[in-house]
Amino acid sequence: MPEEIIIGAVLTQNTNWKNVSRAIENLKKALGENDILRKAEALSTEKLAELIRPAGFFNLKAKRLKALLAFLKAYDFDLNRLKSVPTDALRKSLLEVKGVGKETADSILLYALDKPVFVVDSYTKRLLKRLFNIDLQGYDEIKNLFESEYPPDLALYQELHGLIVEHAKRYCVKRPKCDECPLQENCYYASQLK
Ligand code: SF4
Repeated sequence: MPEEIIIGAVLTQNTNWKNVSRAIENLKKALGENDILRKAEALSTEKLAELIRPAGFFNLKAKRLKALLAFLKAYDFDLNRLKSVPTDALRKSLLEVKGVGKETADSILLYALDKPVFVVDSYTKRLLKRLFNIDLQGYDEIKNLFESEYPPDLALYQELHGLIVEHAKRYCVKRPKCDECPLQENCYYASQLK
C-alpha cells in the first residue's frame, strides 16, 4: 500500500526491511489499516516512537516521520492531490522536510506517488562500479545518468530499481559471488579476476 511505502521510506533508513515490517505491523495493529497516515500524525512523537521501536533509531525516526506526516497533512493526506503536483516541485518540497534525504524522497515519489524518478542507493553505486567500472559517488550524478539513459517510464524505473536491489542482494554482495553470477561475462570486476 502506498501509505505503508511512505512510512517505510523513513523507517528503512539504516535498517533492513524485516525490522521495518515489524514496525509497520505494530502501527497497523494500533491504528488499523485505514487512514493510517492521518492517525499516525495524530499520535504523540513518544507514542509513535514506541510503536516503531523495531525499526531502530526510533526516537529520531519518530521525529522524522512526524515531520513528513505534517507535510502530508497540508495535502489532507490525499495522495492523488500529491500526485497532481509536478514531479520537480514535489521532489523539492519533500527534500525540504526535515530528515527526508534524496533516497527517501525518490523512493516515495517512485513507489507511492507514481512519479518516474530513479532511486539511487548503495546497491546502485556498487553495481555501477563493479559491472561498468563507473565510479560515481554523487547522488544526482547517478540519478541523472540513469534518467538520461532510460525514458521516464514508471514501470520501467520500478522494475529496474527492483532488479538492481535483487541482483546486489543475491550475487553482488559485499564479497561478490561472481562464479554464480549471470552477468559475469559482461562484468568489469569479474574480468579483472581472470
Ligand atoms: S560478476 Fe561479480 S562483481 Fe560482477 S555483477 Fe556479478 S557478482 Fe557483481
